[in-house]
Amino acid sequence: MLKARQLTARLALLAICFTGLAGALLAEDQTFPAADPKTAATAALDTKIPVDPKMAVGTLSNGLRYYIRSNGRPVQRAELRLVVNAGSLMEDDDQRGLAHFVEHMAFNGTKHFAEQEITRFMESIGMRFGPGMNASTSADQTVYSLHVPTGDMEVLEKAFLIMEDWAHNVTFDPKEIEKERGVIIEEWRQARGAEARISDEQVPIIFKGSRYSDRLPIGKREVIEKFPHEALTRFYKDWYRPDLMAVIAVGDFDRDTVERLVRQRFGAIPAAANKRPRPSSDIPDHPETLYAISADKEVPTASVTVLYKHPLHDQTTHRGYRDIMVSRLYALALNRRLAELTLKPEAPFVAAAAGPRELLGRAKEGCTLAAVVKENEVERGLEALVTESERVARYGFIESELQREKADLLRLYERAFAERGTEESAPLADEYVRAFTTDEPTPGIAYEYALCQRFIPEVSLAEVNARASDWSGERNRVVLVVAPQKEGLRVPDAKTLASALASATTKAITAFTDTAAGRSLLENPPEPGKVVDVSHKPFGIVEWKLS
Ligand SMILES: [Zn+2]
Repeated sequence: MLKARQLTARLALLAICFTGLAGALLAEDQTFPAADPKTAATAALDTKIPVDPKMAVGTLSNGLRYYIRSNGRPVQRAELRLVVNAGSLMEDDDQRGLAHFVEHMAFNGTKHFAEQEITRFMESIGMRFGPGMNASTSADQTVYSLHVPTGDMEVLEKAFLIMEDWAHNVTFDPKEIEKERGVIIEEWRQARGAEARISDEQVPIIFKGSRYSDRLPIGKREVIEKFPHEALTRFYKDWYRPDLMAVIAVGDFDRDTVERLVRQRFGAIPAAANKRPRPSSDIPDHPETLYAISADKEVPTASVTVLYKHPLHDQTTHRGYRDIMVSRLYALALNRRLAELTLKPEAPFVAAAAGPRELLGRAKEGCTLAAVVKENEVERGLEALVTESERVARYGFIESELQREKADLLRLYERAFAERGTEESAPLADEYVRAFTTDEPTPGIAYEYALCQRFIPEVSLAEVNARASDWSGERNRVVLVVAPQKEGLRVPDAKTLASALASATTKAITAFTDTAAGRSLLENPPEPGKVVDVSHKPFGIVEWKLS
């Protein structure tokens, strides 16, 4: 679906977007009805969102899913993915770090590609590690990516052979395993930068009481140094199985030919005999506010984020889609107010943004309020941020604000619809990864635009205002502070932050007056920002920094 990504990038100065989520795997014989935009206007709310007719999606008898689509951008190229719906969360206690180790071993010898032959083959077709070939392990999933030319069918077939080998034919040569320990320990050492240190402090608090909090993909050094080889192959046997995998191919090729190839190659993988159940990814509720306060010498600016955790909502239905839209309208309206505040002299923060509901692991969703603040003004920024949220909770938005955001949101979809057919293969492939792992709907932009034209006009002010509860309350609230560590700079403690929160939620607040109301929409166009930095953190947390 047209994702928060585009939206978040546009509206947030500093937003954290959480990806991940469970996604109950669909039954083998499930059919995937094709999306027809003409039906979007009348589809019953509780029916499932259909899939883009441009893609072929199916499930083989061994349980493996595939998503295939022809796409001519870039020409003569294809994006291939092997997705394993398992990551560090599945590790046993003696395997901590081995989901990631398995991922490394996939490049150190398989049935058809001894030792470094995969790398040599990819280099022979002009593809290098990074843009041409990549893999990543997170708590919930492991994804292998290949970017290949499509002019020569033999090359494409060989690329699928690599992916099939990864799925069930990794060699695990003892010599190669021993060699790789050093490589991973080095990676472990290098990952100990500011970001890792901060994440080490935040993750156990954000995910308190869950497996996420003590199953970071990088793992435990002592395990990586000493694990017996059996622990590594046990992970591969338990979790690399067809019913937990998907093959994704998007590119400049004939869809039917590639579908036949995938069915033939991956259909021959035997179904798993013993299916270990996926361990719980549940994130327990907590009645009180939790605090993660990090000060680090390498951090250049201070920031504060308030995260509100919520139960998952079903995003696979039309009702779920509408729900996300209401949440986005709320966030957009709040963002405009926050942006207005930053223009004032003596503004309480440098930049601030509200983030709509995003997945947090696979068991919760999170809404955020975040601000970049001046040094020594963390609690002032926090209080201002929560005060604005509280102002909406008490008085609501006004109709003119909602109308403005509706027009803007519609325009965003309109533009995406007008640009249909110009999508690049890589983001489409990534969308299908999410479709597999988190059940994100993929009806195509024509259907989504039709849904927007139906839902956006009918959303009422009362409905949007009712979402204030998503950004308020003490339950399941987490406050994250990141500040530079330096001489003379005071970093507030939890008690100070708690009193800023208490002040914001108990003091007298006046209603908002819409100074822009009645003016033309174009008189005050929002400044389009640019993404200046995107950093990927553990658990699929992505931090966007905008200009
Ligand atoms: Zn690695």
